[in-house]
Amino acid sequence: MKILITGGAGFIGSAVVRQIIRHTHDQVVVVDCLTYAGNLDSLAPVSNDSRYAFERVNICDRAGLDRVFAQYQPDVVMHLAAESHVDRSIDGPAAFMQTNIIGTYILLESARQYWLGLSAARQSAFRFHHISTDEVYGDLPGGDEPFTETTPYAPSSPYSASKASSDHLVRAWHRTYGLPVLITNCSNNYGPYHFPEKLIPLTILNAIAGKPLPVYGDGAQIRDWLYVEDHARALYLVVTQGVVGETYNIGGHNERRNIDVVRTICCLLDELMPDKPAGIGHYEELIAFVADRPGHDLRYAIDGAKIRRELGWRPHETFESGIRKTVAWYLHNQTWWQRVLDGSYSGERLGLSR
Ligand code: NAD
Repeated sequence: MKILITGGAGFIGSAVVRQIIRHTHDQVVVVDCLTYAGNLDSLAPVSNDSRYAFERVNICDRAGLDRVFAQYQPDVVMHLAAESHVDRSIDGPAAFMQTNIIGTYILLESARQYWLGLSAARQSAFRFHHISTDEVYGDLPGGDEPFTETTPYAPSSPYSASKASSDHLVRAWHRTYGLPVLITNCSNNYGPYHFPEKLIPLTILNAIAGKPLPVYGDGAQIRDWLYVEDHARALYLVVTQGVVGETYNIGGHNERRNIDVVRTICCLLDELMPDKPAGIGHYEELIAFVADRPGHDLRYAIDGAKIRRELGWRPHETFESGIRKTVAWYLHNQTWWQRVLDGSYSGERLGLSR
C-alpha cells in the first residue's frame, strides 16, 4: 500500500509513520507544512528509508495537493494535519478554522477528484481516514457513561468545534459523493516526541529544569490517557480493516485527574532522576495551581467497545507502564527536546543556521 499521511511530522502522525515503516512493507508520503508543531527530527529514525517521502505542502493549497496525489498515486489517505492545542485555539482561533475546517474541505476535494480518476478496483479499495478527537463530544458529567460513537456532538472550545466541523464534512463527503471514509475519535495521547506545550511533556521538562509545574484550577479535570504507540496501531488497524463509513472511538481505559497525572510524573522523577535541581526535596513541591482555562471541560472518557469487538484492538500499555516509558524517553532523549526548546528544530528546516 502507498499511504499519504497529512500531519506526519506531528506528534501522532510521526508515530504512525515510524510504526508503518518499521512494521509493514507499505510506502509512506508525508504531507506537512511544518507549523511550529511539525518536527522533522521526529521522523529522523525512518527518513533514510526508501519507502518514505516527505512533501512540504499546506493542506489549504489545492494545487499542491493535486500535484502530490498525481505524483504519488496513494491507495489510502490518513488525515492527521491539524492545529491541535486548545489553549492556542482560545488565543487565536483563526488558524484552527483555516486548517481544521477549510484545510479538511480542500483535502477532501483534492482526494475526491483523484479518487474519481482511479480504476474501479482502486476506487473501491481507496480509503480516506480522518483522525479526530473525543473532545467533539464535549464535557461528560462525573457519573455519566463514557462517549460512544453515537454520543451527540457538543464541542466546547474553538479547537473541538473546528474538529467537529471537519468530522461533519468527512461524513458529508461519504453520504453525498460516496468517498470511502473512516473516522476515528480518540482520547488524549501521550508518549515520546510530544511537543512540550502539552501537560505531560511540559510537566516532565519543567520538573527537570526545577521550574513550576502549572496545573489548571484544582487539577480535577479527568482525561482518558492513551499511549501514542497504541493509538498508532489502532489507526493502522482501522484504515486496513475498518468498515467504510463507520466511526470508531479509541480510548485508553485510563481515566486520570490532571493533578494525579502530574503527581505520578513527580514520583517517577523522584525515582529515575534523584539528582534534583537545587533546593528541591520532592518534585511535587514544584506544583503550582494556575487560573483555569475558560470553558474547560471537566471530563472526557471513551467507550472503546466497538473497536475492541469489531477489530480486536486493545491498548498494550496501562497508564502506569506508558507514563514510565514516557518519562524515561524524555530523560534519554535530551537532544530532541533541547532542539525544540531552543528553536533550532525549526530554524534548520527553514535553512537558517543553528
Ligand atoms: P500536532 O499538533 O502534534 O501535529 C499536527 C501536524 O500537522 C504538525 O506536523 C503540523 O506541522 C501539521 N499541520 C498543521 N497545519 C497544517 C496545514 N495547514 N497543512 C499541513 N500540515 C499542517 O498534532 P497531534 O497531537 O499529532 O494530533 C494529530 C491529529 O490527531 C489531529 O488531527 C488531532 O486533532 C488529533 N488528535 C490528537 C490527540 C492528542 O491527544 N494529541 C487526541 C485525539 C485526536
